[in-house]
Amino acid sequence: MKKGRVFSGARPTGRQHIGNYLGAIKNYVALQDDYDCIYCVVDVHALTTMEDVGEIRENTREMMLDWLAAGLDPERSIIFVQSRVPEVLELYTFFSMITPLGRLLRIPTFKEKARMQPDNVNYGLVGYPVLMAADILLYKAEVVPVGEDQAFHLEFARETARRFNLLFGQTFPEPQIRLTTAPLILGLNGVNKMSKSLDNDIELAASPEQTMERVMTAFTDPARRYLSDPGHPDVCNINHLHQFFTDSADRSAIQEACRKAEIGCVECKRILGSNINKALEDFREKRAEIAAKSGYIDEVLADGASRAEAIAKETIFEVKQNMGLI
Ligand code: SF4
Repeated sequence: MKKGRVFSGARPTGRQHIGNYLGAIKNYVALQDDYDCIYCVVDVHALTTMEDVGEIRENTREMMLDWLAAGLDPERSIIFVQSRVPEVLELYTFFSMITPLGRLLRIPTFKEKARMQPDNVNYGLVGYPVLMAADILLYKAEVVPVGEDQAFHLEFARETARRFNLLFGQTFPEPQIRLTTAPLILGLNGVNKMSKSLDNDIELAASPEQTMERVMTAFTDPARRYLSDPGHPDVCNINHLHQFFTDSADRSAIQEACRKAEIGCVECKRILGSNINKALEDFREKRAEIAAKSGYIDEVLADGASRAEAIAKETIFEVKQNMGLI
């Protein structure tokens, strides 16, 4: 017996990195055991900031390969692309009629995005949280897993559900926030969150050689300049990454050796690179298998869209009825 419906969306960012895996995908996979999950590639959201729209389709395919290889199961979950279920845009329009503009203009993420792309402050940027509310409420999701940085948007979706219910009668459940306790994974520079755009990431689909090369470029304890200097693993990002890929006994031994200057950073990174490669062996094999199945991704997305649309149509019918449109 499942506990309810989960919805989560992610922008089509292409190949995923280990930060995406540890921070989100791993959680998506686990949620499938207890919930009916709907996972969506939000390509319409991507249009608000995308520089090259032509990349969306290829990015979607690469991301899907990673999701499926990591364990998202199209038999158990609905996996689809946002724009293939146009009812979301209908609901977005209805919600935009009941959302005060002043409220949207005050949202900090809008101000930040407008600052980051001053030459492209488009209408979609202002309406971003409204579309997000439509994504979640269209499927009457009861639970939405989010990181702390996204909690505000979910609060906005809850507010939208309350406003709609007040104006037109009980229609939507108020989705519950499920704060993910995902660890913060820093990138190879050891300063910023791991990110493709900052080029400080390790892609899940990288070859073993590429992975090792990337790990070798990572920053370590800045105070350790020579092999003979005792290290400080507590401030070293390589040590942080070891906790996800190296068993705890080996990690403790490495930390102690580092503090006594008995292990060098090159060797420490080599161990990490090799453990990451071991951990990703099955993933990479599965990814290659899926990539070799011609048309498979398209089939998964078409099936997901048709299952999502069946739910969406019911909601839109109810919405129009409650609004007095039909
Ligand atoms: S030995 Fe490892 S943990 Fe210690 S400073 Fe070097 S990379 Fe970091």
